[in-house]
Amino acid sequence: MIQFQNVSKCYPDDIIAVQDINLTIEQGEYVFLSGPSGAGKSTLLKMIAAIERPDTGTLTVNGQEIGQLRPAGIPFLRRNLGLILQQQHLLEDRTILENVMLPLNVTGVEQTEAKFRARAALEKVGLSNRADSLPLALSEGEQQRVAVARAIVNRPQIILADEPTANLDKPNADKVIEAITFFQSAGVTCIIATHDESLFTKANRVIYLDHGKLSHIDQMDGKKHEN
Ligand code: ADP
Ligand code: ADP
Repeated sequence: MIQFQNVSKCYPDDIIAVQDINLTIEQGEYVFLSGPSGAGKSTLLKMIAAIERPDTGTLTVNGQEIGQLRPAGIPFLRRNLGLILQQQHLLEDRTILENVMLPLNVTGVEQTEAKFRARAALEKVGLSNRADSLPLALSEGEQQRVAVARAIVNRPQIILADEPTANLDKPNADKVIEAITFFQSAGVTCIIATHDESLFTKANRVIYLDHGKLSHIDQMDGKKHEN
């Protein structure tokens, strides 16, 4: 479902971010991206979301080639992606419920239905009781769980998370990962870039990047995967 074939990406001034990556990630897989800062993890995630495009090689996501995607195709791609970043970018003047409804408003879901689904998503991350609060009234860990709810409210096929627990203490980090793991067990493909090795036991595979290259893959589930 996600296939990198000889994918490379440079930033201006010839900074090589990702170099000759070959990788296939299957539907429903739980994959962690590891490696030192600057290894190319974020760039890999950004290319899957068509925030960045490969310079060379082919990246296919849900049958669509990212390099060939026209502007009109981007909303369709993103509808199937839930993006969770280190900073949550919640709108401070909207309630938690309204924040979680945003992706549904964008895709034109009717308001009553949108509220219903946003409440269901908040329930899944254990924050039903905070629906009417404003983001700043919540702890960082709770805000990050709101970001998880917002990422999954559209029922995406893929969740991409970039250091989702970086600013959190252990109990909050665990809750965020628990929420993501719940959706993975419901069949959603999850790809998480993290430094936190304690999470790797949950993975099907851990993919290590170094200086933009795929250095090795740890198979955590005993299954055989095509590279
Ligand atoms: P990681 O997520 O593993 O820390 P990144 O994908 O963010 O790695 O970065 C890979 C390389 O690309 C690094 O050398 C980084 O400095 C560089 N880089 C990332 N984003 C940009 C950008 N927008 N412009 C220029 N260089 C960038
Ligand atoms: P509903 O009662 O609206 O059918 P569910 O109880 O099935 O909702 O799920 C609650 C929330 O969790 C939904 O808003 C949905 O966004 C999300 N969700 C449930 N299952 C999945 C899935 N397989 N993939 C992505 N998101 C899901």
